[in-house]
Amino acid sequence: MSSKILVVEDEKAIADILEYNLRNAGYETEAVYDGGEVMGSFRVFAPDLVLLDIMLPGRNGLDLCEDIRKDSNVPVLMLTSRDSEEDIVRGLDVGADDYVTKPFSPKELLARVRAQLRRASGGGVVRDVEEGIMDYGRLCIDTNRYQVRVNGEDAGLTRREYQLLLYLAEREGRVVTRKQLLADVWGYSYFGDVRTVDVTVRRLREKIEVDPSDPDLIITRRGVGYLFTGDSGG
Ligand code: CA
Repeated sequence: MSSKILVVEDEKAIADILEYNLRNAGYETEAVYDGGEVMGSFRVFAPDLVLLDIMLPGRNGLDLCEDIRKDSNVPVLMLTSRDSEEDIVRGLDVGADDYVTKPFSPKELLARVRAQLRRASGGGVVRDVEEGIMDYGRLCIDTNRYQVRVNGEDAGLTRREYQLLLYLAEREGRVVTRKQLLADVWGYSYFGDVRTVDVTVRRLREKIEVDPSDPDLIITRRGVGYLFTGDSGG
């Protein structure tokens, strides 16, 4: 059975392009053009993923995302314009998983959709949760020993690097903002410099990525934050 995607976008031309690309890729779609009609469609259509525009007539996407999150963990991908970093961060704060900026390339859109659906269905990676081992092939996080191994060898992570990696890995496929990382990994609520996060990510990449300048595991979402892919490359 094909996955169902609810497309929420008030500009009909954009909604049509989205539906066209998604259907060509084998997904079943339904489009909603008014924010006021989203929750009704959400309940009846029961989508596996929601593509959610933020600026909408009726109700805005941020409110809707909050509502969806009250009783569902369905992946929510926000549709945003390139210059709305603030909206992106607010969207992630209210539970969106990732975002696609308009204008988007169909290839990028479909890659994001596939990644979210894969994550929602439990992913393709073997994780022996009971044994406390998160296994990504080349990379392995051993939560019993607080150790990260690359090709079976201890990667020599500092405590902070380990905590950062574990935090991202537990949110695989989701964009995590730098502020959120500062608050949850470093424990800084109101002070602290987000560049601390960037520096630690850079050091971490040197220990776990095949090519730290072209990372596979931890992807940068410019100006916003980081995303763990679970793809250890190599
Ligand atoms: Ca709009």
